[in-house]
Amino acid sequence: MNLVIIGLSGAGKGTQADLIAQKYGLQHLSTGEMFRTELEKRSPEGLAAYEYWKEGKWVPDDVTFSLLKLYLDESKSGFILDGFPRTLKQCEILNGYLNKSNQTTDWAIYLQVSPEESLKRLKLRAEKDMVAKGKSRLDETEDVIKKRFQSFIESVEPVLNYYRSQGKLLEVNGERSVEKIFQEIDGQLQQKKLE
Ligand code: AMP
Repeated sequence: MNLVIIGLSGAGKGTQADLIAQKYGLQHLSTGEMFRTELEKRSPEGLAAYEYWKEGKWVPDDVTFSLLKLYLDESKSGFILDGFPRTLKQCEILNGYLNKSNQTTDWAIYLQVSPEESLKRLKLRAEKDMVAKGKSRLDETEDVIKKRFQSFIESVEPVLNYYRSQGKLLEVNGERSVEKIFQEIDGQLQQKKLE
């Protein structure tokens, strides 16, 4: 099974993607995490992408996919993509890539959380990271978070419509406990298997 999870920064995509990956034996692939790893390695791709994400802008589609493709090429057991696709173009690129091996995206999970709740969670995450690691994510200042929200709002509708029009969009209220949200996603996936 191949899944994508869509939502505002701070919606809880990473947490839910981990739980779903564990339960269904999928690989959890996060493009944001890939960019942070590449920056730590100081690779040319990582440094180029940082110019965008440090400002809360989306990294260009081709740059993002060329990095993700390295992981997808290695993925054998199905995946859950966290943070990809973020634009309609990325939906089309992913679809084209999967079609070549007779695969598809089975379901797109949309985790709905208001910007106010996301902002609260991201501030909390930054505070916790400061205590635990002495640093927080470089793009987790209030100013950059708000720019990421803006990038999301500008690009998400076509992505949702892309999956909605194929009957593949699962919409989930993300403003509940981690356990309740997971139960609902799991329930919807089980239900879809039976249909
Ligand atoms: P995230 O960890 O998902 O919040 O991603 C961190 C940052 O990486 C985002 O704010 C973007 O700048 C960049 N990024 C992650 N995924 C994508 C994507 N699919 N397309 C473009 N930029 C991305």
